[in-house]
Amino acid sequence: MAEKSEPPTTGISSFSLAMIFITVILSTIALFLGLSTYESQDLSAVPYMLIGFIGLAISAYMLLQFRRKPLRAAFEMPKVITTILCQKCGFKNIRDFESGDYIFKETESCPKCSEKMMIAAIYREVKEKK
Ligand SMILES: [Zn+2]
Repeated sequence: MAEKSEPPTTGISSFSLAMIFITVILSTIALFLGLSTYESQDLSAVPYMLIGFIGLAISAYMLLQFRRKPLRAAFEMPKVITTILCQKCGFKNIRDFESGDYIFKETESCPKCSEKMMIAAIYREVKEKK
């Protein structure tokens, strides 16, 4: 199967989601164990409750991190630029890459001489730090 040109999912993966899910479940179990032991005035309830609270806090923190990540990754995605050149008058048009673009593909008419324009280059824009 050919790979699609989808952006790499650096953010949330099903594996990390499963890990968070398991942590939440284990923490909840630990909390319930702690609470039920606490009713019988047993001091051994304290570590259970601690583990439960810490586990829940960690999974909440991880979820927050994952929710933030895809947004940031989208901003850091390198932009792909398509340069369209008119063979007749040399008019140059630069626009974002669209799927189906390839070099030497005929595109829209030239706004200057209404000759068919051709894609001259497709490249990745070098990001400049502001
Ligand atoms: Zn032209």
